[in-house]
Amino acid sequence: MEQATATVTRPRTVERLVQGRATSDGAGVKLTRVLTQDLQRRLDPFLMLDAFGSDSRDDYIGGFPDHPHRGFETITYMLEGRMRHRDSAGNEGLLSSGGVQWMTAGRGVIHSEMPEQEDGRMEGFQLWLNLPASDKLCPPWYRDIPGTEIPEWRSDGATVRVIAGHSHGVDGLVERPATQPLYLDLHLAAGTRVEQPLPDAHNAFVYVYRGQLRIGDEEVRPQRMAILANTPGSDGVAIEAGPEGARAILVAGRPLREPIAQYGPFVMNTNAEIFQAVEDFRAGRLA
Ligand code: MN
Repeated sequence: MEQATATVTRPRTVERLVQGRATSDGAGVKLTRVLTQDLQRRLDPFLMLDAFGSDSRDDYIGGFPDHPHRGFETITYMLEGRMRHRDSAGNEGLLSSGGVQWMTAGRGVIHSEMPEQEDGRMEGFQLWLNLPASDKLCPPWYRDIPGTEIPEWRSDGATVRVIAGHSHGVDGLVERPATQPLYLDLHLAAGTRVEQPLPDAHNAFVYVYRGQLRIGDEEVRPQRMAILANTPGSDGVAIEAGPEGARAILVAGRPLREPIAQYGPFVMNTNAEIFQAVEDFRAGRLA
């Protein structure tokens, strides 16, 4: 068994296991909604996690034609496939295997996210990260990070890609002081154990997308999200891959503890701000 550096002596336990719900969004794209609206308070500052993965073109080919967002950030991580992004701020990019697109909607964008492939596998995640009230109307921002530029660390049996935050001396490319997001993609060989320090007040979860792993006494099977307990005095999480190895994402962040008002693609603090977002969208003020 391999032990990578980083020492966690009081690891968190699993508070709850959640199975995602099959749904569809955009123009009929099939996906699994893992972090649903009822978990937004518990997993503050994260608002949503969708997992998509299919070999069948019919499940994804419709893509996500023009739609608006306001008040938060979307982080799309493509494991396999190609997706073209265009937005009303004039940004355009091709998100391809292993790459990340980080988009800050801020005061508003209208964008499309369309598959740029006719067949083959499309697999990945979209995570929604909230903005603090003071930043919800900030100018939109956008960055494409090709797969080859995502920092990672390796030890015997583990490859850990650091999409955001800090892990084992490696820094992710995007920093957010208000929410301090950590986003790791863990590729673990059979029996490999990794540790990740986490402040006890930060909300955190692990989503397994291949194989199986163990956190404390809890076995976490594929397509399950393990919500980690915020045990006071805990200093991180220890994860051990099962006999077939595992692939999983570990996501954590500092909660904002502000009111959350969501209406579809708009996430603000109050209903009045939601009405304003809808009105601005209808009046063409988000473009
Ligand atoms: Mn979108």
